[in-house]
Amino acid sequence: MSDDSADIRGRFLSLRRWRRGGRRAPHKPLLVLWAIGRCLRDEERLAPFAVVEQKLKELLATFGPPRQTLHPEFPFWRLRKDRIWEIDRPHLVRQTTSRDAYVRDLREHSIAGGFLAADYTTLRANPSLAHELANAILHAHFPETYHADLLQATGIGHFGAGTAPYQDIGQVAEGEGKGYKTSQRARDPDFKKDVLKAYAERCAVCEFSVRLEGTVLAVDAAHIHWHSCKGPDWVRNGLALCSLHHRLFDRGAFGLDDSLVIRVSARTEGPGWRESLGRFDGAVLPVVPKYKERPAPKFLDWHRREVLRPRSA
Ligand SMILES: [Zn+2]
Repeated sequence: MSDDSADIRGRFLSLRRWRRGGRRAPHKPLLVLWAIGRCLRDEERLAPFAVVEQKLKELLATFGPPRQTLHPEFPFWRLRKDRIWEIDRPHLVRQTTSRDAYVRDLREHSIAGGFLAADYTTLRANPSLAHELANAILHAHFPETYHADLLQATGIGHFGAGTAPYQDIGQVAEGEGKGYKTSQRARDPDFKKDVLKAYAERCAVCEFSVRLEGTVLAVDAAHIHWHSCKGPDWVRNGLALCSLHHRLFDRGAFGLDDSLVIRVSARTEGPGWRESLGRFDGAVLPVVPKYKERPAPKFLDWHRREVLRPRSA
């Protein structure tokens, strides 16, 4: 592996995260993924703030936590400190007391931002490295139920031939030994087994438990407080869910209150809504494990704050 690609991995995979009380802040990863998508499509390196603002607002509204204000200017300005990003004419931008950019200045002067020129050249010449970085960022910040949708929304598309498969990325990064750390954590191999056992291998919501030749299919062990946000691999942070309800839960289409009553977001609709989701609103979870294995309130609270979409329209 060349020094160039080791260096670029080191910087792209150690983005400094804004942390406060376990709140999700996916601003930087979303901006980096979108910029990688531009790079893979051979678009211009620097994008005007108005373009970034519109796209990042869409991405934050779809894939970010439920918040009133979205702040696309935060990563546009702050990513520079991660040594992967630059903006043109920063001297025209005034700073707030918290050292963020005045959005009005970014708009009025049509300030443009993008990856550093050398990195951009490296990534354009090496699309499999770009895919690898995108893959590692996805795993570090989002559950797997988000990955395909995020790849599409950021224009990165599917990983091509020659790209390391998902499960190899952490090993590749660790094996490099270049003094940087990825944000990925090892997973407890017993987590899935223990969670499925606690729920008798059924989806906790719809009780789906189809087996093929004795093996249950399409029932997952979902993390309530996401693994990528430091949620532990404990049974009390798990929920057995079919593929459909896993995806709906991770995207915040429904959540649970502390007494395990299902709360469906008022912003859900569409054909099949009642059958697959609406009919469960207000019902107690049909499959509940024994007391000491039930979802713990602190994890359910995190999910309601950071993932569940609003209960009002
Ligand atoms: Zn289900």
